[in-house]
Amino acid sequence: MKKVVKFGGSSLASAEQFKKVGAIIKADESRAYVVPSAPGKRNSSDTKVTDLLYGCYNLAEAGKNFEKQLEEIKARYAEIIDGLSLTLSLDKQFEQIKKDFEAKAGKDYAASRGEFLNSIIMANYLGYDWIDAAEVVLFDENGEFDSEVTNEKLSKVLEEHEKAVIPGFYGAYADGKVKTFSRGGSDITGSIVARAAKADVYENWTDVSGIYITDPRIIENPVGIETVTYRELRELSYMGFSVLHEDAIFPVRREGIPINIKNTNRPEDEGTWIVESTCQKSKYTITGIAGKKGFCAVNVDKEKMNSEIGYGRKILQAFEDNGISFEHMPSGIDTMTVFVHQDEFMDKEQQVVSAIHRIAKPDLIDIEADLALIAVVGRGMKSTRGTAGRIFSALAHANVNVKMIDQGSSELNIIIGVENHDFETAIKAIYDIFVTARV
Ligand code: ASP
Repeated sequence: MKKVVKFGGSSLASAEQFKKVGAIIKADESRAYVVPSAPGKRNSSDTKVTDLLYGCYNLAEAGKNFEKQLEEIKARYAEIIDGLSLTLSLDKQFEQIKKDFEAKAGKDYAASRGEFLNSIIMANYLGYDWIDAAEVVLFDENGEFDSEVTNEKLSKVLEEHEKAVIPGFYGAYADGKVKTFSRGGSDITGSIVARAAKADVYENWTDVSGIYITDPRIIENPVGIETVTYRELRELSYMGFSVLHEDAIFPVRREGIPINIKNTNRPEDEGTWIVESTCQKSKYTITGIAGKKGFCAVNVDKEKMNSEIGYGRKILQAFEDNGISFEHMPSGIDTMTVFVHQDEFMDKEQQVVSAIHRIAKPDLIDIEADLALIAVVGRGMKSTRGTAGRIFSALAHANVNVKMIDQGSSELNIIIGVENHDFETAIKAIYDIFVTARV
């Protein structure tokens, strides 16, 4: 059994948290490769080290004095080192960082130092080897993560280390210049390491006991998800679930390695399992409810639209020409609706409208704003009759007007469009009918 374990920033924000992490790793011999984030917030008014680094580098880049800000970052690490009673000194590393900031080494380099320094502490604390991510996580010349080159290189390097710490969040171009993933990217590194190590499990340790069925800001104490498939999670992440970085699924998915989301503060909780496929039924027919506000519907009417070949393409061409991506596209006989992100669309709406007129010659275009989309996701829907019926009767009882319905042929999700102001009510109604009514 071999496990790769990734710990998020809140799990490593202080010496006290580090001790919990150390105990978790030592409790299971198979936890061989450790991917740490940078220290996160110690309390709700605190600042993440990554944000401090960005701020500090902004000053350096503008040619201003950044001494005080760098000292603040140094103090964060000193507090951890002292609290763990380590003899380690990071003075040499900080000297180098200062020089590199003065030489304007770049924003990505600056942000990456959070994980770089934290991983050195972690390796020292655990007595594990340390591998610099810049040597094994590689990006191509276009700034895209180079998955195959990385996998080959990293697999070889890992073979030489029985136990090691690899910093999350960053890698490098072929010339050694540091490049980071987008924010929260240590999740991706953990997944990359799990794939290269051919791990049995990728444990992702955070500050919640897994993934909730829906947003806890809308439903107080929602129940947790026991098992979710990669595909379900992809749908849910796309619609706003944020426990795991969206791209973290891809590397482990290739090898069918399960991800287990665990809570550093409650290690005894089982957490959520993210798997390729499972015969385990989800307890509530639906696996999760996610959603986002801030969409616009562009309704295009044209008589006999259904018989005109290529009409849909012409409409979408108008969006494409203006660099706008669309989310959903429900259609009728003489009408087609294109859902777009309101903030992206707003500045270009008149250009898009005239482009549709020019290319597709519609009878009428009507734009509706302030809409929300809700995704009800569940592998169990395929084999259960009446799921859609239950959703819509719950919404009707809650007085929510449904503006759009879209069910993919995979029967994995049903997307529902409602007005922004009905968003929370709609989620509560759906949660109640499937979850509250069952427990
Ligand atoms: N430290 C980085 C961030 O704050 C990456 C991570 O934590 O995954 O986004």
